[in-house]
Amino acid sequence: MKGAGLDHIPSGDFSLYDHMLDMAVAVGAIPEPYRAIGAPLTRYFAMARGLQDPDSGVDVAALEMTKWFDTNYHYIVPELEAQQSFRLDARKILSEIDEARALGIEPRPVLPGPVTFLLLSKLAPGAGKATTPLGLLDALLPVYGELLRLLGAKNVPWVQIDEPALVLDLNERSKQAYRHALERLAAGKSRPRILLATYFGALGDNLPLVAGAGLDGLHVDLVRAPEQLEAVLVGLGPQMLLSVGVVDGRNVWRTDLDVAHGLVRRAVKALGADRVLVAPSCSLLHVPVDLAAEHKLDPDLKSWLAFAVQKIDEVRALADGAGREAARGPRFDETRASLAHRRSSPRTVNPQVRARVAAVNEAMLHRSAPFDLRVRQQRARFSLPVFPSTTIGSFPQTAEVRAARAAWRAGRTTSDEYDLFLKTEIRRCIEKQEALGLDVLVHGEFERNDMVEYFGEQLDGFAFTENGWVQSYGSRCVKPPVLFGDVFRPRAMTVEWSRYAQSQTRKPMKAMLTGPVTILQWSFVRDDQPRRATGTQIALALRDEVMDLEAAGIPIIQVDEPAIREGLPLRTRDAPAYLRWAVEAFRLATSGVREDTQIHTHMCYSEFGDILDAVVKMDADVLSIETSRSKMELFLDFGRLQYPNEVGPGVYDIHSPRVPTSSEMLELLVRAAEVLPPSRLWVNPDCGLKTRGWPEVEAALANMVEAARQARAQLAGETP
Ligand code: GLN
Ligand code: ZN
Repeated sequence: MKGAGLDHIPSGDFSLYDHMLDMAVAVGAIPEPYRAIGAPLTRYFAMARGLQDPDSGVDVAALEMTKWFDTNYHYIVPELEAQQSFRLDARKILSEIDEARALGIEPRPVLPGPVTFLLLSKLAPGAGKATTPLGLLDALLPVYGELLRLLGAKNVPWVQIDEPALVLDLNERSKQAYRHALERLAAGKSRPRILLATYFGALGDNLPLVAGAGLDGLHVDLVRAPEQLEAVLVGLGPQMLLSVGVVDGRNVWRTDLDVAHGLVRRAVKALGADRVLVAPSCSLLHVPVDLAAEHKLDPDLKSWLAFAVQKIDEVRALADGAGREAARGPRFDETRASLAHRRSSPRTVNPQVRARVAAVNEAMLHRSAPFDLRVRQQRARFSLPVFPSTTIGSFPQTAEVRAARAAWRAGRTTSDEYDLFLKTEIRRCIEKQEALGLDVLVHGEFERNDMVEYFGEQLDGFAFTENGWVQSYGSRCVKPPVLFGDVFRPRAMTVEWSRYAQSQTRKPMKAMLTGPVTILQWSFVRDDQPRRATGTQIALALRDEVMDLEAAGIPIIQVDEPAIREGLPLRTRDAPAYLRWAVEAFRLATSGVREDTQIHTHMCYSEFGDILDAVVKMDADVLSIETSRSKMELFLDFGRLQYPNEVGPGVYDIHSPRVPTSSEMLELLVRAAEVLPPSRLWVNPDCGLKTRGWPEVEAALANMVEAARQARAQLAGETP
């Protein structure tokens, strides 16, 4: 950033695990179970990942983790007590300022703001329902005040306080919290100047909360919400700077510099050049680092893209051009040529796909019979016990599996050898599942690198980067494909593996596909047509795959949609339109099958309250979800809203290496059975097992199967 000539360079945005966890530590919000762990780093990672230490006898689960707004990044949910007292621990924040200064940079420290911090926190179990985290605002604000004083004393010129919750629908209580908190922050004596950052959407009705607060600057996202600029220019406090986020921090396309320049110019004309900062729309956490590290991308496509390094150059170019009405310069010319080329490229359009999309009709969106009839046929076909046990699909992607794939990709082994290797893995995996006593088996997904990349690689319209990694959580990253053109399935993608797997066992085999919304959500999606149109194209390709699986004798097909919820627009009024097409895409993909073919879906989170209606409409026969970390708390919604089909509420947290005991899992099943009748419950982990090692997986699944057995005896009156 220094090299690119940026004037404001952030600090504190590096994290050993997660920035919300960093903030929890910085304000002393260490939940009780972790306090006994003395070494700060051990304690930090215990909160992030759980810790099982046979020597000291420490055995603590990880804190809950959930998705950051509508991104695929997961943050650690701070856990607070009803009477939480906060205490500042500014070591990380201060040392990173020193580190930057040693490099000759005067940084702008970035902090999650107090209201967003509390709105995204939860109260520790047992804290009672009477209070909410927001009730702790008055206890928290002095710590922020103290921190700002420290930064002031250190002569830090600017601090950035991130309040992305300001782009959400806020109730009156939250609005009041903002009024109060921002006023208090602004009133701090000898503090740095404060830039309040909002992103991922428009401030909308929350703008007045910010405008009059007496802060020094406001950052707004003009990529997601360019239309808010006029209102912001009118509403901005008289002394405030405006940081215009005009370079997309959420996608990889080259910025249309003329459009961005127009926005910058509008701000400059209204406020004067010295009150305008040019910036990316949000943190660059969500895009890959450097396009220059890509050597295999098609040169045409490559010329349409910009990663983080290119984006900061775009920011610089826009800032340099801000003083002139007409944007000139080589970067502007190059961009114009590239955009014109992309707009007219035949590589983005497939007439056959367009024709199929136009021919989609209502009948293609419905199963041939309602759930009640289907479930009877499926029960007759599978004769499963109550509380049937299964997994979500993937088994450990060991170093050996990855090495075999790498060797095949590099041409060091033949396709036949790789094939044989995968079949051996599948067979072993099936033997293990049979030995464990699981009821519905899977092949283990060993052939898949990543649940989206694997499909994207076999579909037309996708391109792949070599190094385009973005963080998902902790040290886990994903490499989203670039969805640049019409989506078409030239041939079956998964059928051979599932067919082979089914031939190795008499138990029912479940095939796994990644759903249309998730493929869309976890790709960098073309921005030249509505997402919904791209979603329909993917759904049609998947529908063909589902039909081929059924024809190959696979009785159970799971279409994973872990990303439906994160695709939800941040404002409630935009939700119905999104959910309508998301549900339709899922149904288009899955509705072509026979009544006795069982459709599963999987979603890795537990907060369904606001989308449960849509999930019901998806009409999957079985839904598996993530409920273990929240201890089934949120599963209550399923009872309250009378979820009609079968559900597998996850009983085993796969994000942690810790092996849960069977009694822990049984306890979760007991709770689940208070919500829905046992006849409609499945037993499964929270998510796929690909990131785990075999020993912990086998131990945990043995305990899980045992828990299912006990649940049958205890809750369904069966003799084990
Ligand atoms: N079937 C996938 C797996 O087991 C699902 C992964 C996910 O939901 N993120 O890995
Ligand atoms: Zn999952």
